[in-house]
Amino acid sequence: MAIRDIIIAPDPRLKQISLPVNEVDDALRVLMDDMLETMYDAPGIGLAAIQVGEPKRVIVMDLANEDETPAPRFFVNPEILSVSEDLATYEEGCLSVPEFYEDVERPAHCRIRYLDYNGVEQEEDCDELFATCFQHEMDHLEGVLFIDHLSKLKRSMMLKKLIKAKKLMEKEPA
Ligand code: ZN
Repeated sequence: MAIRDIIIAPDPRLKQISLPVNEVDDALRVLMDDMLETMYDAPGIGLAAIQVGEPKRVIVMDLANEDETPAPRFFVNPEILSVSEDLATYEEGCLSVPEFYEDVERPAHCRIRYLDYNGVEQEEDCDELFATCFQHEMDHLEGVLFIDHLSKLKRSMMLKKLIKAKKLMEKEPA
């Protein structure tokens, strides 16, 4: 396993629409393992492949608390089959938008379908943090960030700060 670089917004790569995976093979499992290690290292609870520069419809997630045993999840070619009318608000963050957290309202429940780590099709219902995180990661596959759900003003303020932080990082000697 290897830790990969996480792309930080704003970056045109994060706006790409990710493409479906043809087959869940060993090469894809290497990518999923790397994504998981990258996510744990960050640390974060979810990561989409495009965040490490791979425009593939792949998501990894682990919603276990720090004091619980790790519970890694892998979602290939994930789809949201239906969403509830009732909404839930969570304070969201994103490894591609470091140090920013904002409330985002999304459907509280959804039914999802995906291929698992072994390429087996699964369908399940999700709610609470799982539902929010899944929808957040699905957005990444469409080139959408959680800050795109905020007001224009808030988003442009955040983007300005992100650009400033990036410039500072570039100036730092390697
Ligand atoms: Zn994210």
